[in-house]
Amino acid sequence: MPDNITVAGVAVDTRHWIGGLRVASAGTFTDHSPIDGSELGEIARGGPAEAEAAVAAARDAFPAWAATSHSDRARILHAIADGVEKRIEELAIVETTDNGALLRSHRRGVMPRVAHNFRFFADWLLKLEHEDFETREHTNHVSWDPAGPCVLITPWNAPLMLATWKVAPALAAGNTVVLKPAEWSPLTASLLADIAAEAGLPAGVLNVVQGYGSEIGDTLTSHPDVRRISFTGSVPTARRIAASAAGNLTPLSLELGGKSPLLVFADADLDLAVDLAVEQYDNAGQVCLAGTRLLVEEPVAEEFTRRFVERASALTQGDPRDEATDIGPTIHPRQLEKIDGFVQRAVAAGARAVVGGHRKDGQYYAPTLLTDVAQDSEIVQEEVFGPVLTLQTFAGEDEAVRLANGTRFGLAATVATGDRDRAERVTARLVAGTVWVNCFFVRDLQAPFGGSRQSGVGREGGTWSFDFYCDLKNTVTAPKGWNQSHG
Ligand code: NAD
Repeated sequence: MPDNITVAGVAVDTRHWIGGLRVASAGTFTDHSPIDGSELGEIARGGPAEAEAAVAAARDAFPAWAATSHSDRARILHAIADGVEKRIEELAIVETTDNGALLRSHRRGVMPRVAHNFRFFADWLLKLEHEDFETREHTNHVSWDPAGPCVLITPWNAPLMLATWKVAPALAAGNTVVLKPAEWSPLTASLLADIAAEAGLPAGVLNVVQGYGSEIGDTLTSHPDVRRISFTGSVPTARRIAASAAGNLTPLSLELGGKSPLLVFADADLDLAVDLAVEQYDNAGQVCLAGTRLLVEEPVAEEFTRRFVERASALTQGDPRDEATDIGPTIHPRQLEKIDGFVQRAVAAGARAVVGGHRKDGQYYAPTLLTDVAQDSEIVQEEVFGPVLTLQTFAGEDEAVRLANGTRFGLAATVATGDRDRAERVTARLVAGTVWVNCFFVRDLQAPFGGSRQSGVGREGGTWSFDFYCDLKNTVTAPKGWNQSHG
């Protein structure tokens, strides 16, 4: 197997990155581009031995990195951000070729945000503090201590963005990292290893292992030397990881799937509401936060549907490298099958496809809107993770809230209304980690992020990230017992 492949003109090392060295595996797996199904290359297929080696490297590198001053850690994280910024074009085209999301959003939104992940957590580290407090004349001092090696496992829908949202705070906290990217989009994690090394991150502080989760995952998540596991992905995988981590009671952060509602009240600005609804097709609907259940108040349902159909039918679908494209391909033939299965079963059960409802050539799925769906049906209850929305109507706030909260998920919710009092009443009753009012996807790194119910466990973001990645310690010092000569 060649050690390097060239993807859209960019050289990418296909091996693991362990202890500051490139390491091959006996086996490989083939990485394909969702744009046209072409083979991109053979990637190292890690297993238990590579997982053991990566955790050992992270364990060995931990004491020195944990002892590195906050300002030195922050400086290196900023240097990584500089390296990302220098390579935005390369990262963007490799990511688009690998996972099919739009090049223009990788270029202008995602990759700058990747750099920002490092800058933000570097700066947050430097201002992290809890004021000392006195209790019965004793001083309490709270510190965020580095916890140890962290295993970070990420999905394919926003590979580098989601990886660095975990890598940056974990490193800032003084931990070492084993990153396991998704096997359907392994490439930018390898480029990140290059960038981190060039930025001066010591060997073993960041390790990247490639491979199938089913083959390499268990060794990572059940390892007694691993102190934190942060996972973004599906609910079934999260269950396996939680079971595997249970032996050591390793603390987990789980960012999982969703089936989020988008509520449109009759008093909403309908143009804005339609814009928000059409936005849910971004990344071909492969977005955990997507508001895939449109809930529309009865008096405006007909007009909303008419305007939505007009807008959705005009979307351009095709090559994600083309500036004019609105919707690219789905990630993998298996994902396409899964999406179509959901839609065909829904239609067989009585749903009506008022937009789309079918595959297109290659790995593309037509943006789809299904009406006449029942609240307890599969299509309303289960995450599709494709460009498929459902539309239900409601009469009044109580029914809106009942439908919105009526799944096992609780990741996000969006409310379109022109009435501030209604917004306050309704948002207070919604079960979701993030609620947007008259907007969507506005997300700052200092906000807590995560899901309620089966959409996740825990929150990351700002100080919450440090709370997760650190061992919080309270040191209580008595006023007495001091050697006089030292005051
Ligand atoms: P997935 O659960 O299939 O895989 C995610 C990662 O887990 C991959 O790297 C995979 O290799 C790894 N994995 C698989 N089995 C494993 C095991 N036994 N042990 C350890 N690791 C294992 O998810 P996916 O299909 O890649 O991603 C889509 C899912 O991710 C959707 O449900 C989506 O909603 C969710 N997601 C959530 C968020 C969020 O922030 N809440 C963000 C993006 C995606």
